[in-house]
Amino acid sequence: MVAQPAPSLVNSPSRELSDQWQAICVRLIQDLGDATFKSWLAPLSVSSIQDGDIHLIAPTKFMRDWVTTRYLGRITELWKALNQSIQSIEIVESTTASPSVTTQEPSSTVSSSDLFERDGEISAPLDSRFTFENFVVGKPNELAYAAALRVAESISVQFNPLFLYGGVGLGKTHLMHAIAWHIKKHQAHRRVIYLSAEKFMYQFVRALRYKDTVSFKDQFRSVDVLMIDDVQFISGKETTQEEFFHTFNALVDQNHQIIISADKSPSDLEGMEERLKSRLGWGLVADIHPTTYELRLGILQSKAEAYPAPVKVPNDVIEFLALKITSNIRELEGALNRIVAHVTLVGRPINLETTQEVLRDLLKSNDRRLTIEDIQKRVAEFYCIKISDMQSPRRSQALVRPRQVAMYIAKNHTMRSLPEIGRKFGGRDHTTVLYAVRKIEELRIKDSDFAQDLDVLCRTMEA
Ligand code: ADP
Ligand code: MG
Repeated sequence: MVAQPAPSLVNSPSRELSDQWQAICVRLIQDLGDATFKSWLAPLSVSSIQDGDIHLIAPTKFMRDWVTTRYLGRITELWKALNQSIQSIEIVESTTASPSVTTQEPSSTVSSSDLFERDGEISAPLDSRFTFENFVVGKPNELAYAAALRVAESISVQFNPLFLYGGVGLGKTHLMHAIAWHIKKHQAHRRVIYLSAEKFMYQFVRALRYKDTVSFKDQFRSVDVLMIDDVQFISGKETTQEEFFHTFNALVDQNHQIIISADKSPSDLEGMEERLKSRLGWGLVADIHPTTYELRLGILQSKAEAYPAPVKVPNDVIEFLALKITSNIRELEGALNRIVAHVTLVGRPINLETTQEVLRDLLKSNDRRLTIEDIQKRVAEFYCIKISDMQSPRRSQALVRPRQVAMYIAKNHTMRSLPEIGRKFGGRDHTTVLYAVRKIEELRIKDSDFAQDLDVLCRTMEA
């Protein structure tokens, strides 16, 4: 390869590219959240373009692989939407970048705080897609949805705070943004501030450093609706908690609305002061449960419909994804985007085959998340025995077989070792597990009815 001459500064492709990368970073922060962005994407830098090929340089090999499997699809999609001459994007490890393509100046890396901290604005940007209209309601999130809508619609404060909690990627941030959008639209006079607990801390620390805590306090205490996302972030950070506690009390005393999200319920938050925990649980606590198949299906259908005309995602692909990607909604969405981006890039149809190919890694890691407890529960349900029978020492045939089936599935569908599996089955020895696995393999070959049952069971395991 021949080194390209350094381009002129004005309008140089690398300047243009780094601007594009900045724009993409803004979207990625909205998509993935601040923490994920900081850990995985902020360290990347744009290295080069040659005939439409971009290299993003990652500092380590691990990071290269991680970003490639998780985020490359989304990055590619966003970049192609911005710049049609892009052919391919590759994440490379910093040492492997070939010298012939790094003649153009690498752009500086973008940090999420650079993007958020502009103009000293305290409220973080709101994602335009995170509205109530775009929120698909199902059993796992109906309480949280109803509570969020109530808070958004009411003029007076009904419960304070509203505390939303649930695992990652289940819609907490989406609901908070939805509340903010709703209030901005229907009660424009109310001052709404949304920010992550991380940013709250950042602002506070900065105020301390510049001895500007008075205006910091004023800023927060004059809002009508304060939303703090991912409050677990301030666990163990005592001074920030102290300040948060005072802000919180000041707002509650003035009857201003507070909305908090966290990954755990107030009482389960570790590293939080007791008085803060109890205060957080005073209002309405609404949890978002892990997704169900029906909810995943509903979400995928609504997202698939939103793609512009030529893109059509067949039903069997939607059902397959709803069955397989059980971790969370963010990943579900990411999977769908990845397929659409990939097949439209290479011009292949969207079908089960291309889906499985494109998502190979993701599907594998979702399979791995099946826990032994899940397996025990489903096998017990299937054979109509109690879950506790999985651990019990009783050896009647009616219990032994289901137990063996569960051990067999645990061996084949999780990454757990034989001793680990044994421990989960009432502290049995690893040889017992091994025996069970062999026994079931044998039965599976000999008894076709049994093989069929096992097959059904294994398939529901993935749902
Ligand atoms: P959390 O804050 O709980 O980690 P997010 O609110 O960021 O999760 O949601 C992750 C992604 O999933 C977002 O893109 C969001 O729009 C989407 N999402 C979550 N729940 C729903 C839902 N019920 N309907 C539609 N999209 C959803
Ligand atoms: Mg969130």
